[in-house]
Amino acid sequence: MNCLFCKIIAGDIPSNKVYEDETVYAFRDIAPQAPTHILVVPKAHIADCNGVTAENSGVVAHIFEVIPQIAKAEGLETGYRVVSNCGEDAGQTVQHLHFHILGGKKLAIEMA
Ligand code: 5GP
Ligand code: ZN
Repeated sequence: MNCLFCKIIAGDIPSNKVYEDETVYAFRDIAPQAPTHILVVPKAHIADCNGVTAENSGVVAHIFEVIPQIAKAEGLETGYRVVSNCGEDAGQTVQHLHFHILGGKKLAIEMA
């Protein structure tokens, strides 16, 4: 499959890894929007939030267990934001489900 994040997970494209287990991979965003900007992805290819089903939602729950561990390891004690863009109107550019962790500064509140 011609998917950038599948290639990163496979190690075919280098990345700056911050966390990995059997089902989840996390790495630093190549174009950080905040002092800490990490992408957390399921190893199994899911295109976006619309691809989450009863069969694969366990990995999403697991991602939300892993996110606080990463935030703690990154020293984000005063807070952070988790974002997932789904589809064209949200500006999704990589069609492999991912959760941005943004932190390390007081973030602007801009929902639209
Ligand atoms: P989206 O816009 O789809 O929500 O987020 C995709 C993110 O992937 C962007 O923040 C972008 O900077 C990041 N990104 C794109 N290509 C690469 C890459 O090759 N390596 C890494 N580490 N991040 C990437
Ligand atoms: Zn993929």
